Amino acid sequence: MPDPVFQRLTLIGLGLIGSSVARAARDSGAAAEIIACDASAEVLARVTDLGIADRVEDDPARAVLGADCVMLCAPVGALAEIAATIALNLAPGAVLTDVGSTKLSVIRDVGPLVPAGVHFVPGHPLAGTEFSGPDAGFSTLFEGRWTLVVPPAGTNAQAVDKVAALWRRFGAMVEVMEPAHHDRVLAMVSHLPHLIAFTICGTADDLEDESRREVLQFAASGFRDFTRIAASDPTMWRDIFLNNREALLEMLARFTEDAQAMARAIRWGDAAYIEDKVMRGRKIRRSLIDLNQA
Ligand code: NAP
Repeated sequence: MPDPVFQRLTLIGLGLIGSSVARAARDSGAAAEIIACDASAEVLARVTDLGIADRVEDDPARAVLGADCVMLCAPVGALAEIAATIALNLAPGAVLTDVGSTKLSVIRDVGPLVPAGVHFVPGHPLAGTEFSGPDAGFSTLFEGRWTLVVPPAGTNAQAVDKVAALWRRFGAMVEVMEPAHHDRVLAMVSHLPHLIAFTICGTADDLEDESRREVLQFAASGFRDFTRIAASDPTMWRDIFLNNREALLEMLARFTEDAQAMARAIRWGDAAYIEDKVMRGRKIRRSLIDLNQA
């Protein structure tokens, strides 16, 4: 097995993503030692049972001692508080990274707390499922998927390379992206689709009892796919919506305009418009399949 990328990797937050990182780090030999820390005693007990870390710690400040890499894997709304708790115990030269789904807010909230000499390299694996918690994780989650590494201007290049190397060891493809661009892209490809899924499920649920029963009983694949997306963790999605506000509201405004244009085409019997939109959808789906990202 190649040399470890990091000697001691501390993970804070051992849910779907953190526990997948623990498993992938163990299987790939990317970290010589894995320390797990979580706010929930139940989660830590489960991590111990699963045997996916070398040591568990309930105190984040203690968990990061001697770590050359600390990865924050909690919901984005919790990262500032965690950073404040661990800041003074981070080793000089260590890399601090995260997996949060929004990046400008993480850089705004965590960046100022990072002591001089510690390299802050935010990241975001574009991989996940609708499940949460340490039992939901698996070591191959990141294989063949993109991880975006999103360093603020002026970040140490070697630290960026090491974070990229870590994700490549997990089988991920890595791209370095500028933070504001990250948030706009993610608003479109992930945050808006989730917003639509939560909304459509709410709309269906608001229907009178009789029709709601039928919606569930006869759910066609279209609605079924939305319910899968809408099953995601409420805390995580609350934090994402509140922390990518500008970009998400902009994409939602564009979407609303396009939906209104579709409504107009339906009202006025504009068959060509409708057909063109459906064709574009099919083309996008085909490109995704060609790119192996379906
Ligand atoms: P998850 O399964 O819900 O796990 C989050 C874990 O963090 C839970 O064990 C939670 O404990 C713990 N936690 C919460 N606050 C904490 C704190 N202050 N200190 C320490 N631990 C804390 O969530 P996830 O899906 O792994 O998501 C984690 C991060 O990855 C989020 O920032 C999310 O935006 C990002 N992400 C998620 C996906 C996805 O598809 N799920 C994909 C890419 C990135 P409790 O259970 O007690 O709250």
